[in-house]
Amino acid sequence: MRHVLALFGLLVLAAARPAAAQSILRDAETEAFFRDISRDLVVAAGLEPRSIQFILIGDASINAFVTGGQNVFIHSGLILAADNVNELQGVIAHELGHIAAGHNVRFGEGAGPASKISLLSLIGAAAAIAAGAGEAGMAILGLGQTVAQGRFLAFTRDQESRTDQAGAVFLSKAGISGQGSIAFFRKLQGQEYRLAIPQDNEYARTHPLSSTRVNNLLAVYERDAAWNTPADKALQSRFERVKGKLSGYVEEPGRVMQRYPAGTNSTAALYARAYAWHRSGYPDQALAEAARLAASGPDDPFFLELQGQILLESGKVEDSLPVLRRAAARAPGEPMILTLLGHALVSSEDPKLQAEAEPVLRKAVSLDRDNPFTWYQLGVIYDRRGDKPRAALAAAERFSLEGNAPGAMLNARLARAGLPAGSADFIRADDIMLVAGDAIDLQKRKKR
Ligand SMILES: [Zn+2]
Repeated sequence: MRHVLALFGLLVLAAARPAAAQSILRDAETEAFFRDISRDLVVAAGLEPRSIQFILIGDASINAFVTGGQNVFIHSGLILAADNVNELQGVIAHELGHIAAGHNVRFGEGAGPASKISLLSLIGAAAAIAAGAGEAGMAILGLGQTVAQGRFLAFTRDQESRTDQAGAVFLSKAGISGQGSIAFFRKLQGQEYRLAIPQDNEYARTHPLSSTRVNNLLAVYERDAAWNTPADKALQSRFERVKGKLSGYVEEPGRVMQRYPAGTNSTAALYARAYAWHRSGYPDQALAEAARLAASGPDDPFFLELQGQILLESGKVEDSLPVLRRAAARAPGEPMILTLLGHALVSSEDPKLQAEAEPVLRKAVSLDRDNPFTWYQLGVIYDRRGDKPRAALAAAERFSLEGNAPGAMLNARLARAGLPAGSADFIRADDIMLVAGDAIDLQKRKKR
């Protein structure tokens, strides 16, 4: 588990590297950004903002897709290929069109049912993949190898043009210009772009593009009142930050330095180079860039989070603590920052700090029950102070999220035996046993 944790901040939850180099990336700042740029579009689509989940996939190809009813998956390659927030909003409006129309991505032969993926099983799958069980994780998603290999069947032309029209309505209702949508589609069609980044153009394959389609869209957008509305300045600046951070985190360091040369001091550039240095094993350079970031915004919780992450992962646990405490104090509602602080406190092994870690991690799970790493850290705390039933319950939560039904069953049973009958934790252990039991039965039936 430890080496997975090492990649926190932009936490890699899933890394099915051998098969397809796909991973689910989680980052508090990026997830908040996705929610904020799409909120008006989601409402315009008649959907409930809290029910739509945006999932960032670490994959260099340009793609976005929906599945599981309400999940929008966005490849890191798509964000890196976008030049402004308006382009991204154009893509999201289109994907929401697929959701609103109830289109499910159709899968190739041999794939399981893809329509009923809850967030829980999704994150569970991510964690299972992180733990090395790539295929098991994909199986939990019900997606089979199709997703791992990116072998989606394309939507029909008819579905696509109807979805385009729906996306245009959402953009219009949200007062967002369609210029970004057109620019992005043209970029995908254009040859010059492929010369710059020779990635597979997955998006064009799953969403067949044609000049007719783009021209039809253009005709609709141009008539809209929002056509000449510029992109929201604050969202555009957050887009640049998130893109820089992502570039530093997923791209080859040489490519990062090309995009953001030394001496450029935008927030995006500092983020990008801090991560690039950190990933290449140069903690001093990484910390120097992070210090410049922090100086530019001393109260920014995400700058502090990055600084704390680099310190922690470079083995400077003591130094990371005051930085992460400040980050958590400035973003008390961000479970991933709380989990990072909890992780640093647990890593210190100082008994006083263990006591400090417990409420921090409990708060983190109360905000986000679906992060197996938080449960893992909380389990360590319980275990160290001899609370075996709660350590077992935390392990049951973690295994359940990771899609390990037998592990969840075993630990929930252990927890149940040691907890006061009828207590909230006792009932929770019961629930996990029930769900794990169903999953085990299902696996047995499949084997027959
Ligand atoms: Zn489409």
